Amino acid sequence: MSSLAMPAPEAATLARRAEIVAALRAIVPGEGTVDHETGMRPYETDGLTAYRQMPFVVVLPETVEQVAAVLRYCHENNIRVVPRGAGTSLSGGALPLADAVLLSMMRFNRILDIDFDNRTATVQPGVTNLAVTQAVAHAGFYYAPDPSSQIACSIGGNVAENSGGVHCLKYGLTTNNVLGLEVVTIEGEVLRFGGKHLDQEGYDWLAFMVGSEGLLGVVTEVTVRILRSPETARAVLIGFPDAEDAGRCVAAIIAAGIIPGGMEMMDRPAIHAAEDFVHAGYPRDVDALLIVELDGPQVEVDHLLGEVERIGRAHGATHCRVSESEEERATFWAGRKAAFPAVGRISPDYMCMDGTIPRRELPTVLKRMAELSQKHGLRVANVFHAGDGNLHPLILFDANEPGELDRAEAFGADILRLCVEVGGCLTGEHGVGVEKRDLMDAMFSEDDLKQQQRVKCAFDAGHLLNPGKVFPTLHRCAELGRMHVHHGQLPFPDIPRF
Ligand SMILES: Cc1cc2nc3c(=O)[nH]c(=O)nc-3n(C[C@H](O)[C@H](O)[C@H](O)COP(=O)(O)OP(=O)(O)OC[C@H]3O[C@@H](n4cnc5c(N)ncnc54)[C@H](O)[C@@H]3O)c2cc1C
Repeated sequence: MSSLAMPAPEAATLARRAEIVAALRAIVPGEGTVDHETGMRPYETDGLTAYRQMPFVVVLPETVEQVAAVLRYCHENNIRVVPRGAGTSLSGGALPLADAVLLSMMRFNRILDIDFDNRTATVQPGVTNLAVTQAVAHAGFYYAPDPSSQIACSIGGNVAENSGGVHCLKYGLTTNNVLGLEVVTIEGEVLRFGGKHLDQEGYDWLAFMVGSEGLLGVVTEVTVRILRSPETARAVLIGFPDAEDAGRCVAAIIAAGIIPGGMEMMDRPAIHAAEDFVHAGYPRDVDALLIVELDGPQVEVDHLLGEVERIGRAHGATHCRVSESEEERATFWAGRKAAFPAVGRISPDYMCMDGTIPRRELPTVLKRMAELSQKHGLRVANVFHAGDGNLHPLILFDANEPGELDRAEAFGADILRLCVEVGGCLTGEHGVGVEKRDLMDAMFSEDDLKQQQRVKCAFDAGHLLNPGKVFPTLHRCAELGRMHVHHGQLPFPDIPRF
């Protein structure tokens, strides 16, 4: 386990544990409040297992009234709260704190409304991503954002992390598919943003909320857009002896005006790991593999497949295989979707990074990443949402070997700095959490970070919701609101002050 600086526990909270547990149990009775070690153990970490912390107490509310009452109580008593969905975050967003109530939303598991006329589904936040598609599939609809973790991760977590997946290149991330939210603030106020309609009056609060990593409020209801399933979808495997050529091919496909339903890339170690695990039919004699999916009307798909194959060959592809059945298409994707666990079989531990780069920089970044692998003496397997420029380098290490975790972290930090250096950003879809928190200053100036914290202060002035995540240092809200008066001259003197 690596060391990580987190906010020091509040001694006053720790000293009142029995009283706080009793108060929470009065709000969420029975098994809804868990304070014993064995019951809390499953919550001590999330998908970023390098970090662990037993929660102070776990609360599993079932109603919005209970969520509001828990938050109001915590606000009045200055108690920290960590919201949690399914706990699959790869950035440590749901990592507990020693003095924080862990607020699990997994009992909010009902589909509330399906409206095919308006093409929306309204669900509680604990519903899994895949369950939304399963609920509408019988009528030929689906929910487009499809994280690889979709069988387990919750819609509430997807909203908090602005999650993405294979289909987000064409259909957008979570933020492009959420139409309405119900959110409870730390003060226990229930807010509603958006609805079943496109766009909303006033400020774009949905945009603030989606991707806010549990720092601004607790999501209690989500309305998403559902789409008609495409008439046809076919995938093609395109193998390259040279990974940089594969990178160029990705840019060329988009530049030709083709937006595939998905365009993923795997390098040699990832191809071999996935093929050994799933037998997806991947070629073993290539250095990079693209999986490109075209969806839409049959005639369009057939035409574009030919175009993509032509562009691939022009960039040096030595292997092209188009799926001939729905079963074969699913098999092609099975390898990609199982790439993380497949890599888990070839290394005792791995760390998944999540930087994003402009697509044209793929060849450069691949080359520099190979150099960084040499520098840090650790192997890396690459799996990308190539069309979005969203990289998922999997750094392989052995946590039982002294110093390897530290080296893996240093390697990961170098990769993320490289992403920023070439004009990209620290995260594509996994969020900042604790994992990238201390790298935020590679991307943002101190003033940028202060501006972001002013938004946090507007919702949660006491920094009670998910503290220690996203921001490398916390400024007191009063300090951020302070006005700088220079030589007695008020800035913007004609603006009214309240
Ligand atoms: C094998 C694997 C593959 C993955 N593949 C992908 C992928 O392809 N694409 C992708 O984007 N991610 C992927 N992830 C990461 C993860 O699944 C997503 O970030 C997911 O959205 C997290 O959902 P969760 O329900 O598990 O949330 P949690 O891990 O429980 O929480 C994540 C964050 O959301 C906050 N949160 C949770 N619920 C709420 C709520 N109701 N209100 C307010 N805040 C809340 C938490 O405080 C935390 O900050 C993968 C993870 C794994 C383990």
